[in-house]
Amino acid sequence: MVLDSMTLDIVATMVAALLGAMLLYFGRQENTPALRWWGAAYILGAVAIALWTLVGELYGELVSLFLSAIGLIATAMVWSAARVFHGKPPSVPGLVLGPIVWIVSGMLFDPAAQALRLTVGAGLVVVYATLTAAELWQERRRTLQKRWLALIVPAMHGFVLMLPILLGNVLRDSNGAFAKAWVTIFSIELVLYAVGTVFVIFMLASERIVSAHKRAATTDPLTGLLNRRGFAEACGQLIEREARAQRPVSAMIFDIDHFKSINDRFGHAEGDEVLKLFASVVVNHLRLTDLSGRIGGEEFAALLPCSLEEAMVAAERVRGAFAASGVVCDDKPVDTTVSIGVAGGPAGTDLDVMLAAADTALYKAKRSGRNRVEASAELPLSLDRFRRQRAAAAVVVPQPEAAISG
Ligand code: GH3
Ligand code: MG
Ligand code: MG
Repeated sequence: MVLDSMTLDIVATMVAALLGAMLLYFGRQENTPALRWWGAAYILGAVAIALWTLVGELYGELVSLFLSAIGLIATAMVWSAARVFHGKPPSVPGLVLGPIVWIVSGMLFDPAAQALRLTVGAGLVVVYATLTAAELWQERRRTLQKRWLALIVPAMHGFVLMLPILLGNVLRDSNGAFAKAWVTIFSIELVLYAVGTVFVIFMLASERIVSAHKRAATTDPLTGLLNRRGFAEACGQLIEREARAQRPVSAMIFDIDHFKSINDRFGHAEGDEVLKLFASVVVNHLRLTDLSGRIGGEEFAALLPCSLEEAMVAAERVRGAFAASGVVCDDKPVDTTVSIGVAGGPAGTDLDVMLAAADTALYKAKRSGRNRVEASAELPLSLDRFRRQRAAAAVVVPQPEAAISG
């Protein structure tokens, strides 16, 4: 089968242009500058190949040289797109150096030394492909998923491009026949490379978009802590891990005292500031291995991989720090205190069971005068019974009116 290089060039042009348009569209849609860089690179590449195919031969060496330099700029832009994807600035030296080397060497070398020129051109593209691969490969630190594609695709590209260099002697002996065959292989490979790299960048971009959405769905935007859903998910994993090692876990529920009165006196915005402050107190006074989350308006929870006794010490640390935080609203000092209920459980205890017990302890802390830590005497035997008891208690003993202090 003989492949016509003109046909191949037209196919390569159309594929690059279509992919470029697609990348530009998604780059706009998802507001991802890297995809826009990538799309612009492909469009530029398509223009360069199209012009080269149409007028390159007509206008001779110099025009061909400049058109292929534009192709190199497009290749360098793909590397810059990978950099932008990782939050780095595009590389300006990278964008100009390669094309300059190409043009200068093209002018210096004898046009008859086609093998030498091909080697320089291929070498430059290999450098850009390697830089792009190295850049994409860095993403593996974040998620270890199918990263091999990010290496294989540019590596294949580099290999095909390096063929003339690897087979230098054959090339010199074949009177340009090999160079011709190589140009055909290169055109086919270019199409595969263009599609392959777009696949890689889409895979990386979609992974990133999915994880951003997931983070948003499990994070409380005000405090940056996990929300109820994220907290429950993370706790499930922690409980499972500790259960395998037969280690106990403890849960605590924090409820800011008389928080409604802070809102009423200083406004909702000040209330929000107090919530943020409390979240930072919790994070700063628990260990990195502990989990914390905002599970309701002014209710927070934490799960610690430790015994009840140790958890009581940690809870007391949080209580003391919040009481001593010295909040000032409208130039007036505000009492900020928190009541905390703590419950411990043997390895593998359900989060709901522990939170229910911690909630009972919290209730006790509130009734005993607030600004204190209480431990639950025991875990509820069943959640259903616990809920019935709580419902009954709520009817018989109504919550006392919040005495306004501070
Ligand atoms: P207690 O000591 O018994 O816990 O009294 P409290 O005033 O803290 O309890 P209550 O549950 O009656 O009030 C909680 C208040 O928290 C009511 C609600 O307006 C407020 N709140 C809930 N979510 C937010 C929020 O996101 N921002 C602000 N500023 N306030 C909130
Ligand atoms: Mg409350
Ligand atoms: Mg409260």
